[in-house]
Amino acid sequence: RAKELGRNNLQVFTEEMADKAHEKLLKQAELRQAIAGQEFLLHFQPQVNIESGRVFAAEALLRWRHPERGMISPGDFIPLAEETGLIVPIGDWVLRAACRQCKAWHEAGLPLLIVSVNVSARQFRERNWAAHVAAVLAETGLEPRFLELELTESLIMQDVPGALATMHELKAIGVHLAIDDFGTGYSSLSALKRFPVRRLKIDRSFVEDIPGDVDDRAITAAIISLAQNLGLRVIAEGVETQAQVEFLRHSGCDEIQGYFFSRPLASADFEALLRQPGLNADGI
Ligand code: C2E
Ligand code: MG
Ligand code: MG
Ligand code: MG
Repeated sequence: RAKELGRNNLQVFTEEMADKAHEKLLKQAELRQAIAGQEFLLHFQPQVNIESGRVFAAEALLRWRHPERGMISPGDFIPLAEETGLIVPIGDWVLRAACRQCKAWHEAGLPLLIVSVNVSARQFRERNWAAHVAAVLAETGLEPRFLELELTESLIMQDVPGALATMHELKAIGVHLAIDDFGTGYSSLSALKRFPVRRLKIDRSFVEDIPGDVDDRAITAAIISLAQNLGLRVIAEGVETQAQVEFLRHSGCDEIQGYFFSRPLASADFEALLRQPGLNADGI
């Protein structure tokens, strides 16, 4: 009896595993199809100066318009894309599309905004990646100073010497760097000092519960003063309420991004926002 049960369990287990593997293969094939079938698009979310209310940048956020399942968020496919390496061609598409869109806005006479692009570890570690970024900039005609690349702490900490070398190459090209989701990783303060970055992005998980949560308030204020002391700019992500804005302003935060000002928008809607009379937007 026990033996039988054991055997059945084993059978269920392997079937489940086979199903999982099968599902993964299907998803992988779908991702490949998405690249080939141009099912990806970018949304853009404004980054705003907290004092002047001026929009100075747009973060490009990837979306997948699946033919049957509708719009899919990056959280639901980026992990698999990273695991399979498909993030490299996908990220490459994002970089090119973001630079092209930014250049088109500049040429249309809109404010000279920066475009900010998320970079995955797999992509960043590609051989000669900085040279590749330079080639994309040349191809799209966007000046390097209008591109900011968002790296995470964990991406950098996986291989600090390697990351530092690539970061310096990117800086030499004239591209700007930011650390995304700051506070969730474990970069040591002494390492942070050596990173050639311009901006820290305070992770949304800390911003979410200010001003109510005492700990998150302390962490947020500490990140802001750390940035100030290191001569970095600092932006808070996921800002949704007036009370958060007040706390951040009072703590000396330079910039905000979040639903309080605007959700991520389709490019046409972002452009309409930039054209709104009275909107403060003049880029860098
Ligand atoms: P992230 O780079 O930290 O982007 C910010 C995320 O917070 C976005 O989610 C944005 O829509 C969301 N957000 C912005 N303001 C608010 C707010 O006020 N409240 C709340 N609740 N959420 C807000 P999204 O677009 O789903 O992207 C999730 C993550 O996926 C990104 O986090 C980034 O890590 C990754 N990602 C997005 N696009 C790309 C890409 O092109 N390449 C790579 N490698 N990763 C990407
Ligand atoms: Mg980001
Ligand atoms: Mg973030
Ligand atoms: Mg929290």
